[in-house]
Amino acid sequence: MTASPDRTEDSSYDLWLTLVAVVAMLVGGAAHFAGFASLALVGYAVVYAVAGLPTALSALRSLWHERILDIDLLMVVAALAAAAVDAPMEGAVLLTLFSMSETLESRAMGKARRAVEALMALRPDTALRRSADGIEEVASGYLLPGDIVVLRPGARVPVDGVIVAGDGSLDEATITGESMPVHKGPGAQVFEATVNLNAVLDMKVTRGTGESTVARMITLVTEAQAARAPSERFSEWFGQRYTVAVLVGSCVALAVFLAIGRDFDDALYRAATLLVAASPCAIVISVPAAILSALSAAARGGVLFKGGAALETLGAVRAFAFDKTGTLTTGRADVVDLVVLSGSDEDFLTQLAGLEAQSEHPIADAIRREVEARGLVVAELDGVSVRPSEGLVAGDGLWAGNPRLVSSMGADMGHPALIQLADAARTVVYMGRGAQMLGAVSVADLPRKSSAAGLAALRKGGVAEIAMMTGDRRPVAERIGADLGLRPSEIHADLLPADKVALVADLASRGKVAFVGDGVNDAAALARADVGIAMGAAGSEVALQAAGVALLSDDMTRLAEAHRLARRTGRIIRQNLIVSMGAMAVLVISALFFDLPLPIAVIGHEGGTVLVVLNGLRLLADPIRRR
Ligand code: ADP
Ligand code: MG
Repeated sequence: MTASPDRTEDSSYDLWLTLVAVVAMLVGGAAHFAGFASLALVGYAVVYAVAGLPTALSALRSLWHERILDIDLLMVVAALAAAAVDAPMEGAVLLTLFSMSETLESRAMGKARRAVEALMALRPDTALRRSADGIEEVASGYLLPGDIVVLRPGARVPVDGVIVAGDGSLDEATITGESMPVHKGPGAQVFEATVNLNAVLDMKVTRGTGESTVARMITLVTEAQAARAPSERFSEWFGQRYTVAVLVGSCVALAVFLAIGRDFDDALYRAATLLVAASPCAIVISVPAAILSALSAAARGGVLFKGGAALETLGAVRAFAFDKTGTLTTGRADVVDLVVLSGSDEDFLTQLAGLEAQSEHPIADAIRREVEARGLVVAELDGVSVRPSEGLVAGDGLWAGNPRLVSSMGADMGHPALIQLADAARTVVYMGRGAQMLGAVSVADLPRKSSAAGLAALRKGGVAEIAMMTGDRRPVAERIGADLGLRPSEIHADLLPADKVALVADLASRGKVAFVGDGVNDAAALARADVGIAMGAAGSEVALQAAGVALLSDDMTRLAEAHRLARRTGRIIRQNLIVSMGAMAVLVISALFFDLPLPIAVIGHEGGTVLVVLNGLRLLADPIRRR
């Protein structure tokens, strides 16, 4: 039995048919033992009709349309064989139990899927938009970037945006899984589907409905269903081949039983028992039951997997590599110092902000905020191009960036004030025009509060190697690294995007590697790693595309939790495969050599299936939360 998505949808209809089958089975069984043989037959006939017929139809449909012999067919053949050898009660028990476990399974799978779909329902349908003549109510879908929306206390945020007036607490549990309210004021990002708790806030829309965090999440998860885990693909592949083998095997067994002199009815009964005993229902369902449950438990905790494959790989990861800025650090840096060698501070900052105007880098954000705080206007510069992990260069030769960019421009960092600035272990951004040095700012970037705990939890969880990889200067990297409890050998500084890829490849030569990053300059490393993990809500779109996992919460301890959940999923999948294969082996051997009665085969077979599904569902109750 495979849990096809379309079957999930008509599960309430399935549920009624199953209930009717169970009642008819009970009535038939009771009548049988009370000696009312013909009433018993009526009961069994009802079971064959309500449980057997739909199964037979679906089996024939997939045989006809997809040329797939599925397990439903085995069940129907076995039930018919039982009826043919005058054992209709056994056949009816088989069909009833099959239908019961099928319903249970589709309900369970539906539950896992609905946890994710529920996110979609959280977006409010309408929003209050400020316009020239007051406030009007509009459909959320019509909001455009730049619109100002008023959020009343208790209102859900209709789309992603930035607060422009007011400050208050928001409940972001829906997207980050974080239950503590977060206090936010002007300039802070707010996300679709989170709840404004206590203040009146004005927000400016930054992304239309289709591109919001929640929308991206849903796309990610939908894509996820297409990307199957390797073991899932295996169990499906196996299920199909195996079904054919079981049918053929049972026919051969029938022939052999006849050849060794059993009478026809007895041989057919044995062959039917073998058919049931050997059906791989439990094997086929054991992997998706675990994976779907884990994916939805993770989604509720703000960790989104783009599919079972990413989940399975994460479980096998032995090395974690991290980007520094915006990943291990908050990415909300502040300008602390300013050295200007010629002209005014104001001119220097307006020019610098002009270069940074379009950059997604956390440094650019710090500079823009500084300029805004001083009430300066941003200069308009043409033809600004990005040099990843170095800085920016404008059309007129103005540039800003790190020491490497300075040397490639032929400028000089030797001025005493600049040397003094560089002595503090802070990120320094130099600005110049051509070979002329104009000055520099230093930017302080703090580790995330959760980073040290997250790294410690990963180590405790058995991660063999951890590395921090940054394009920043070594002194800065070492200061942050020391705060996070990293050893000097684990810190790699002054890297270009290609160097990060090379280091990831080196780690990959010793086992599976995960790379965690946020920036455009991390995309290549995210793609090179066995599993890429992007900082979702705060990170860049490119990083999100390149990654297999998105961390919507910025809480690093959840990464360790996700790793733990992934390993546990792997264990449960292995348990399930062992149990289902073991149970099947026992049943098949008993059917072949020890006259196993059909009802026992049925109970063993369905019981095994239900057991692996329930075992997988345990993951649903294993939330990812903050440590
Ligand atoms: P990380 O790997 O830690 O995220 P990056 O590789 O993005 O850091 O950047 C490395 C260095 O390049 C920064 O420390 C900074 O000096 C310089 N740089 C990168 N982007 C910019 C930018 N937009 N403006 C100025 N300097 C930048
Ligand atoms: Mg970064």
